[in-house]
Amino acid sequence: MGVHVLLIEDDETIAEPLAEGLRQYGLTVHRVATGGEGLRGPYGDVVILDLGLPDMDGIDVCRAIRETSDVPVVILSARGEEADRVLGLELGADDYLAKPFSVRELVARIRAVHRRSSRQQSYDSEPSSESAPGPLVVDRRTRQVWVGEAPVTLTPKEFDLLALLSEDAGAVYSRQQILDRVWDEHYEGPTKTLDVHVATLRRKLGDPAWIQTLRGVGFRLAVRPRQDTAASDTAS
Ligand code: CA
Repeated sequence: MGVHVLLIEDDETIAEPLAEGLRQYGLTVHRVATGGEGLRGPYGDVVILDLGLPDMDGIDVCRAIRETSDVPVVILSARGEEADRVLGLELGADDYLAKPFSVRELVARIRAVHRRSSRQQSYDSEPSSESAPGPLVVDRRTRQVWVGEAPVTLTPKEFDLLALLSEDAGAVYSRQQILDRVWDEHYEGPTKTLDVHVATLRRKLGDPAWIQTLRGVGFRLAVRPRQDTAASDTAS
């Protein structure tokens, strides 16, 4: 299996030859040009992140990725400044490369962070878990949320939305029901607000499949029976 890379870089003149170069080294490259697209994922095995993006600061993209994922992040910067490098690494980036750099150099860094993270994963994960996310825990008393071992930081509205859906996982809640209960009984603002919150929630939970959309009906929280059996041996 080759290494899958998400390349977040807006500059065509850099991104195109870079993607091509990485492919020649046998990597699979998915390229996007904005931070927003990048955050939609999938992140693949390694994220290569340019700091100077048109829609948001690369540092914020790095922070947002870290809220939901342990995927290795290699930062690219034209700035090459010590402050950016330190900030990026503090925010959880795994490595840093100042432009200009050679494709070969980048490939070496990608392979190194990937090796480190796959080794880490095999230490971390129990034999049966593979890439399945941990159970989702919504604690209404303390208003805390975890996916497996990882705490998830939510805004009050995001929490209320998730708490509502988790009251009866698998059951469908209509848009109006959700707006009435999470927003206001006579909420008349844009219903797009709900979609925006659902999108952010999906991202923060690390897997869009947690919240399923039923077109024209509403939303429901996924029920994942395999989680209940994660602790026991599987037959595979
Ligand atoms: Ca750029």
